Amino acid sequence: MNFVIQIKDLHKKFRIPREKRDTLKENILHFYKRVEKEDFHALKNINLDIQHGEFLGIIGKNGSGKSTLLKIIANIYKPTTGEISVNGSVSPFLELGIGFNGDLSARENVYLNGIIMGLSRKEIDEKYNEVLAFAGLDEFMEMRLKNFSSGMQVRLAFAIAATIDTDIYLCDEVLAVGDINFQKKSLNIFSDLKKKGKTVILVSHDLDSIKKFCTKVVLLEKGIITKVGNAEDVVNYYIQKSEE
Ligand code: ADP
Ligand code: MG
Repeated sequence: MNFVIQIKDLHKKFRIPREKRDTLKENILHFYKRVEKEDFHALKNINLDIQHGEFLGIIGKNGSGKSTLLKIIANIYKPTTGEISVNGSVSPFLELGIGFNGDLSARENVYLNGIIMGLSRKEIDEKYNEVLAFAGLDEFMEMRLKNFSSGMQVRLAFAIAATIDTDIYLCDEVLAVGDINFQKKSLNIFSDLKKKGKTVILVSHDLDSIKKFCTKVVLLEKGIITKVGNAEDVVNYYIQKSEE
């Protein structure tokens, strides 16, 4: 089989501050221990193989570990234990801010991102107009990124990720941001990527789009994969479960 991503027995643990103490007595008694931390298991025992050309959907409630999994695939986080192998270049369109620098202009950020993704300056020059056309932010490109609204940042980030040609595309909640027009463009991009036979991982709460595009869907619940299957089955199972 032609797997581009293989994940074996993967765990991800974060150290998070221990819960706040409520009473004054507890606070006094534990004054020096206030910054104590505890383990939080964001992903548990993840086994997942993704084939070349697969359009994989990841669904699940907020906090179930979807973004953490994408960040591990993008090599932004390391797994705590377990193995992951990724064969191919990755274009991550993840949460706000990754690979962005607020003190640089939007234009400079396009170049910064392109370089991070391995393009030469000349290649970025050639892509720049395409990014602009997709983002629709022409008159703001000399503005510092920190003055962009979060919606504008997401548009720019997705425009960059979608324009650059790579093997694997990671999309985290792209459809949740932007106006209807931008959502339409994003859906067109997904259709294009699918036609080209690219490998795409789409995290979304838009279950219609998940059904429309995904060849396989994974349901994450509290860091555990509780269901894998075709889009119709997994989405319907998830809806049914949410209604219970
Ligand atoms: P989702 O994308 O499904 O909403 P996330 O993967 O963002 O969920 O988060 C899963 C859990 O891991 C959440 O409880 C979140 O608070 C926690 N988490 C994510 N990133 C970190 C981090 N860097 N440090 C500590 N906890 C984190
Ligand atoms: Mg998330």
